[in-house]
Amino acid sequence: MIAIIKTCPGCGSKELVSNGHDVKNGKQKYHCKSCDKYGTLDAAPRYSEERKAEILKVYFERPSMRGIARTFGIARQTLAEWLREEGDKHPGLESTLSDVPAEQDVLEYDELQHFVKKKAKSGGSGR
Ligand SMILES: [Zn+2]
Repeated sequence: MIAIIKTCPGCGSKELVSNGHDVKNGKQKYHCKSCDKYGTLDAAPRYSEERKAEILKVYFERPSMRGIARTFGIARQTLAEWLREEGDKHPGLESTLSDVPAEQDVLEYDELQHFVKKKAKSGGSGR
């Protein structure tokens, strides 16, 4: 019998114990007694930062997440996770809105109607 010595990808320790199999992909899971990490040994390949940036760039050209996932063969969950990360890098929407005093914060009905009429007139319906 050949013993395959596996090392922890986290700390490099060989003190690994089997910890069942992943329900989804059937991969062997382990528990590292040194650093207390749990996981699969051959985790799915990570994407390079370049690849990630490339995929995100294409996403912002506006295809659907589904389309991106299909084109690049990545999980939509992975893409969603990246988008969340990207979103966290930017200030919240609240802080990007200009400061309007609370009493001016409502668009008056007549303003709205005026706007709608103006828009209807300038629309190119040909009448
Ligand atoms: Zn470890």
